[in-house]
Amino acid sequence: MILGSGSAWDTACVQLANAARHLGLDDGLHELLRTPRRAITVSVPLLRDDGQLMVLTGYRVQHNLARGPGKGGIRYHPSTDLEEVKALAMWMTWKCALMGIPYGGAKGGIAVEPALLSRQERERMTRRYAAELVPLIGPEKDIPAPDVGTDEQTMAWIMDTYSTHTGHTATGVVTGKPLSIGGSAGRAGATSRGVQLALFAALRQTGRDPHATTVAIQGFGKVGALTAQYLHDAGCKVVAVSDVKGGVYNPQGLNPAALIRHLAEGAETVVGFPGTDTLTNDDLLELDVDVLVPAALEGVITIENADRISARIIVEGANGPVTAEADRILEDRGVMVVPDILANGGGVAVSYFEWVQDMQAYFWSEDEVNDRLRALMERAYSEVAMLATTQGISMRKAAHVIGVSRVAEAHRTRGLYP
Ligand code: NAD
Repeated sequence: MILGSGSAWDTACVQLANAARHLGLDDGLHELLRTPRRAITVSVPLLRDDGQLMVLTGYRVQHNLARGPGKGGIRYHPSTDLEEVKALAMWMTWKCALMGIPYGGAKGGIAVEPALLSRQERERMTRRYAAELVPLIGPEKDIPAPDVGTDEQTMAWIMDTYSTHTGHTATGVVTGKPLSIGGSAGRAGATSRGVQLALFAALRQTGRDPHATTVAIQGFGKVGALTAQYLHDAGCKVVAVSDVKGGVYNPQGLNPAALIRHLAEGAETVVGFPGTDTLTNDDLLELDVDVLVPAALEGVITIENADRISARIIVEGANGPVTAEADRILEDRGVMVVPDILANGGGVAVSYFEWVQDMQAYFWSEDEVNDRLRALMERAYSEVAMLATTQGISMRKAAHVIGVSRVAEAHRTRGLYP
């Protein structure tokens, strides 16, 4: 394994290089697969409620379009930059290929702290950013979805802006929309359901009983909160969760539904929830639990703390939470890592279902969506586990080998234009 510096882009490039070497790809094809097809930076002027003008920077990267239109979330976060968006877009390429979904990989974002903006400011910012992207996105070109700091309302504004510019209602331009404008039943919980399915497959593979399994989850947002709830409902003991302000711990187990209600009723953080002890995000990662689910940001398990991770299984709800160096340490220590492009693939799976329903203008029941999600997740998990076992490689490497090989095959089959 080649080691990188720990940035998301470096980690993504190391993972690709490992897969390319395993597959024996030639240098030219490897470089083609590494290089983003399109990367755009846009300025997003925003008129604040107080009359001041601020100019934000937005990005959209279409990493690879060989297997279909671009697909990937839009992130609003202060540390978002082009390098991070490139890495996230590359992971989307391998994830869609691994999940067997006919999409390429893309990602976008704005460097901004959305919590500091009013709802009206967020709407103006989103619409201006979307207007800049109109020539690039579309149901057959590139289909955004929510990510960190964005939600279904953000998608509704993008859909409306795009539709207004093109002169017709285009529900299929984004996924993760509200149900009232062509969203899919089951999309809101899809990533978390997928994390649960991947985690349960890992428990079965390692002969563990879900009822005797303790779990810590970093991040209590769209992915982390529902993952906590589904795991609790399925019998696991979720002992710790956290958000950007810190974490809460109860060795007897938390009640995620009560915590979700607590936030819905106006609490700004999980910290201070009655009946819990406070702990830091660093402590949470090192907690003595069976399973750790990082579900916040990338690069949280590094060369600094990988030796101190106690969990025997890590299921990556977040994209890129483990750096390439940390990955090697965890592998040497025998920690099983269910990689992001597999573990959180449930989100893009149901985004794909949403797009299919939009294109057909025919909608499925939540049970149908969940059944199809289960089938995709279980097929992808068993393909990865089988390759990892037969070739004696990590789940991470196996997942990348499958994803990268499918994209490489698409390039070979299509040939190079001109
Ligand atoms: P979100 O914005 O809904 O939630 C993010 C959570 O992480 C919040 O609880 C926030 O407080 C916390 N957080 C932020 N910074 C933190 C820090 N420095 N330390 C600890 N916690 C921090 O975002 P989300 O949609 O839940 O996405 C979380 C991760 O899952 C991201 O890596 C995202 O790319 C990935 N992901 C999301 C989806 C999806 O459908 N939303 C799909 C696949 C992957």
